[in-house]
Amino acid sequence: MDCLFCKIVDGQIPAAIVKRGDSYTAFNDITPQAPTHILIIPNQHFANMAELATANPGLAGEIFKAAGDIAREIGLDSYRMNVNTGAGAGQSVFHAHLHLLGGRTFAWPPG
Ligand code: AMP
Ligand code: ZN
Repeated sequence: MDCLFCKIVDGQIPAAIVKRGDSYTAFNDITPQAPTHILIIPNQHFANMAELATANPGLAGEIFKAAGDIAREIGLDSYRMNVNTGAGAGQSVFHAHLHLLGGRTFAWPPG
């Protein structure tokens, strides 16, 4: 399968890895939208977070736990976790991922 994020997990495409677990990889977003912008992805391919959560709810939980752990480890006390699902919502890479954004204030509602 020709998937950018699978290639990052496999090391075929370089990324600024923040943390790795048996089930997930976290790396800096190449186009950061905040001073901290980290993507946390399952090492296994799923098209989006909803498909991941349906197929393997425990793994979906591990992704969210990893994001919270990373936020704590880097000293973020306010942050946003964001999941875009579907092109209309801004999803551009169809391998499940959670955005962890921090280091600035965020508006609500989101754009
Ligand atoms: P989304 O638009 O929610 O699908 O998020 C995909 C994210 O992947 C975007 O924020 C992109 O900036 C990011 N991205 C795309 N290519 C790379 C890459 N090679 N390394 C790191 N992040 C990437
Ligand atoms: Zn993939």
